[in-house]
Amino acid sequence: MKRLFVLLVLSALVFLAGCAERPSVLVVSVDSLRWDEMSRSEQGETVSPTLDQLAASSLVFDRAISAAPWTTPSMMSVMTGLPSLAHGVEEHDRALAPSVGTLAERFEEAGYRTAAFVPAVTLRREYGFDRGFEVYDFEGYGHHRISSPELISKVQHRVERWQDEPFFIWVHLWDPHYNYRPQAPWDQAFRRGKQPENEDVQCLKWVEDPVAPAEAEYLRGVYRSEIRFTDEWMARLLETLEQLELRDETIIAVFADHGESFLEHGYLGHTNRVDDTNVRVPLLLHWPGHLPSERIERPVSLTGIGRTLLRLAGLDAEGFGASEPLPLAAAEAAGPLTEPGPMSRTVRRGCFVSLTGDEYKYVLDFRSCTERLYDQGTDPYEQKDLTAERPEVVREMRGDLVTELDRIDALGVPKGTMPAEVVEEAQAALRSLGYVAGGGDGGGDGGRHVECFRGRRPTGRDAFGDAVVDPPCREEALRACLAALGS
Ligand SMILES: [Zn+2]
Repeated sequence: MKRLFVLLVLSALVFLAGCAERPSVLVVSVDSLRWDEMSRSEQGETVSPTLDQLAASSLVFDRAISAAPWTTPSMMSVMTGLPSLAHGVEEHDRALAPSVGTLAERFEEAGYRTAAFVPAVTLRREYGFDRGFEVYDFEGYGHHRISSPELISKVQHRVERWQDEPFFIWVHLWDPHYNYRPQAPWDQAFRRGKQPENEDVQCLKWVEDPVAPAEAEYLRGVYRSEIRFTDEWMARLLETLEQLELRDETIIAVFADHGESFLEHGYLGHTNRVDDTNVRVPLLLHWPGHLPSERIERPVSLTGIGRTLLRLAGLDAEGFGASEPLPLAAAEAAGPLTEPGPMSRTVRRGCFVSLTGDEYKYVLDFRSCTERLYDQGTDPYEQKDLTAERPEVVREMRGDLVTELDRIDALGVPKGTMPAEVVEEAQAALRSLGYVAGGGDGGGDGGRHVECFRGRRPTGRDAFGDAVVDPPCREEALRACLAALGS
């Protein structure tokens, strides 16, 4: 009996020692942060000094691609390790199927304390984002309120409380999301271009060429002041980790859920297209003494973050998601890709899917069934379509897309729907925040939106009350289009 007691005490001690050695994990997603805002100075002011400094001692992924050009499907891919087509949460009335496991659940099962601090309606718990989080602190902020100070102070408080236990904390910093609000003291620092009469990007994003180039420059300046402001709050969060002596035992992952466009392709904002301005994002992993300060040039998908964090924390990643973990050193990522590169997709307004390869990016518009091909080395802003010049590459990447779709089909991941009453309630919340477009059907602020749609009258509303102008994407059109284009 006595021996059993000693054994129990010993195994408890071993268990506790094991716990103490486990690293904590801090996931910071910054909304709408473009990859090319990192390491950038404008008018003598650095746009993201804290993130740049952190990147200098991090593993940095130069070509990280988000699974989708808007928050909900992109973050769901990060949290499940699945492409958006697989988890299916690609519209507001979808939810993660109950049987699909999440990253937070993995950490929770391993004895981690888990908390999320999310300010965006697009991260409502009902999508399934709250699964595995002991604390899911959700509040819809809307464009009229800044979010970083409040969120960061909540995270600081939580980290202090849990400093002696391993934690998995996710914070989503929403400020750079449109509509932009110039943030003091940087409200003048990035001022440029010409102030447009209408700064409502939420509405303008549905219009082709909605503003003049100088006006887009102005909007980008305001967007930059939001990034600079967010970066400042990120600095305060890192200081807290430093003060608590947690920097060395915390794995920090920083990335953006998607990018943002400023007329590079004739539109503003994000959501409806998969151009690199929308899907290429910063990504860095920081863990001093464990991860090298190197840059990875190979394209990687944000869907690989989950398995990577599990692997780094020494947890079992078996059965989590269906994405390769990220390479953890430049040497691991040498040589060409051996499988189809990162896929991005959107079915909101636009029906687009893309594959990012080593050299080229392939884009398929499966509403019009047209393809585009870009050389990523010489044309990072995707201005010159090479489909006519490189038909063999188009054919090869089209084949890669079919392979990827077959792989996703074979996963057989179940898809869930959002209960009707939740959709209704969320719709009301979104409308009160001014998050969704009105509709242009004569009521409320419809006039403003008719102007945004330039006379194209919306034909209806989607599940969240957002005005519908274009017909919805037909899922079967993707396969039909690939079949028609041939192999
Ligand atoms: Zn977002």
